[in-house]
Amino acid sequence: MKAIAIIPGTKTPRLVDRPEPSITSPHDVKMQTIRVGICGTDREEASGGRARAPDGQQDLVIGHEMLGRVLETGKSVTRVKPGDFAVFTVRRGCRECVSCNAGRPDMCETGRYRERGIWGLDGYQTERVVDSDDYVVHVPSELAPVAVLAEPLSVVEKAIDEAMHVLERRPDVAITPDWLHGRRCLVAGLGPIGLLGAMVLRLRGAEVYGLDVVDAGTARPRWLEGIGGHYVDGRQVPADKVDDTVGAMDLILEATGVASLEFDLLDALGANGAYVLTGIPGGDRPLQVQGAQLMRKFVLGNQAMVGSVNAARGHFQMAVDDLGLANLRWGAHVTGLITQRYPASKFLEPLTQHQPDAIKEVIDWS
Ligand code: BGC
Repeated sequence: MKAIAIIPGTKTPRLVDRPEPSITSPHDVKMQTIRVGICGTDREEASGGRARAPDGQQDLVIGHEMLGRVLETGKSVTRVKPGDFAVFTVRRGCRECVSCNAGRPDMCETGRYRERGIWGLDGYQTERVVDSDDYVVHVPSELAPVAVLAEPLSVVEKAIDEAMHVLERRPDVAITPDWLHGRRCLVAGLGPIGLLGAMVLRLRGAEVYGLDVVDAGTARPRWLEGIGGHYVDGRQVPADKVDDTVGAMDLILEATGVASLEFDLLDALGANGAYVLTGIPGGDRPLQVQGAQLMRKFVLGNQAMVGSVNAARGHFQMAVDDLGLANLRWGAHVTGLITQRYPASKFLEPLTQHQPDAIKEVIDWS
């Protein structure tokens, strides 16, 4: 069967042949891959950046944002049945730490986790995949057109959830399920993670501002406005002027991976606010920051900053539920996040060039 693989550390994405996997345990689920999304992590892997091949193997099959259709299940599987649409999660725990053993490999303490398509395990950019039902999440068939977004959305769900948990611990801030209603939230970076973050925050009733550096009439700002968000052009309103121009924010969701901007954004955070970071900056260029000023504001404002990566099964379930709500509320607009579809034979295009107006690019395998 065909698969898209890279040799970590090189710029050699290519189509390879892999044996078709089969069910070997009563808990296994075998899926036909329907489509697989491509994100910044895949592009980084394909350009020689962060990636690790499985032990004893030279190359790595990439792809971690999948949607599949169940072909066959082991006899103990109850979560899905043949014919169902479903997604597999990404991270597999180290089996040593408390978090991994509690079903939260996304919070692994040893760092010895593996991730399908990224770190030590083959991914989903291939025709058939098998994994345990511990990692499967059922997708209602009406969500099949958008469910390839479940993985990036799960990352967003966890990030927002983490910020809420941090705020919840404060005795003076009573967090209720509708805490976000009417709150002022800033999403920085309007790629798929930022736009999906804006979508979740809008579903929770927040007033959402989205910061990026593209023209207002282009696809990503327009998508944001389509769900009732407000676009802030970072070329006219730099991050450290957002507070003066648009006002202070209760929550900031960072999805840029640009370290200098991540520091500048602190200026926009209001008193008792939470700042959650999801971007993973590359490089090691030193940075000058107004250290004392930033830390003073942080302490005097009782502010919280939290990093968030990956997602647990529960966040995938939240993602599927929110896709359902978003579909009811905005219909075809949600599907509009998937802007480019490629057959597997054209994999090089989305992996090596990113169109400015593209939001989510996917490889169609079915
Ligand atoms: C994936 C996460 C993963 C992270 C770090 C992201 O692109 O969505 O699942 O944990 O990369 O490898």
